[in-house]
Amino acid sequence: MSPATARILRLLMELRRMGVSDSRTLAALERVPREQFVADPFLDQAFENTALPIGCGQTISQPLVVALMTQALEVGERMKVLEVGTGSGYQSAVLAQLCRRLYSIERHKPLLAQAETRFRRLRLHNITARLGDGSRGWPEQAPFDRIMVTCAAPDIPPTLVDQLKPDGIMVLPLGDVGGIDQELVRITKTPDGIDIHPFLPVRFVPLVEGLPEE
Ligand code: SAH
Repeated sequence: MSPATARILRLLMELRRMGVSDSRTLAALERVPREQFVADPFLDQAFENTALPIGCGQTISQPLVVALMTQALEVGERMKVLEVGTGSGYQSAVLAQLCRRLYSIERHKPLLAQAETRFRRLRLHNITARLGDGSRGWPEQAPFDRIMVTCAAPDIPPTLVDQLKPDGIMVLPLGDVGGIDQELVRITKTPDGIDIHPFLPVRFVPLVEGLPEE
């Protein structure tokens, strides 16, 4: 067994102990080489259960959070999924293992470019990513079976709920943009509105509307 394989198996065991039980989610994490999504100075930590900086003041999420968000989204293999906040592209690559097509939006051009290079290198041809403000969703491709937001908003963005199919599920961190007092919530679209289930206290970078000035 190569050292990288041993490290990823150790991480998967840790995630299992911490409550990740869905076998499709665990298999998806096993297939995606996280070391290819982190910058060189952090290579040693690629298989540790920790968030890491990725540039532009952003972070690649902790593997446990990626796993619990993926598990909560209940992605089926025929589904069309939207992700807001491509970042390093790691969460996108995990979702792409599980769905038919993933659409992902990022507001920082350098992060998007890096993520797209990784998708090409790993032959993840079912991901379409673009630059933009994800709080507006992707109207041309809506509706979606599932939506995952990987940056924290104070309130549920109504446009994203509109772009979710009936019975669709959305997972997002909600709460204070300062990073304290945030919670991951799982939203289900029902005939009368939405059901909201908080499931994990977290700390995410904020969802910022509009594009950064170049
Ligand atoms: N899923 C990423 C997490 C990156 S952190 C990963 O696995 O690496 C969250 C990302 O959301 C950041 O890259 C940030 O730039 C992006 N973001 C914040 N607000 C956004 C918005 N309105 N539209 C699109 N992306 C946004």
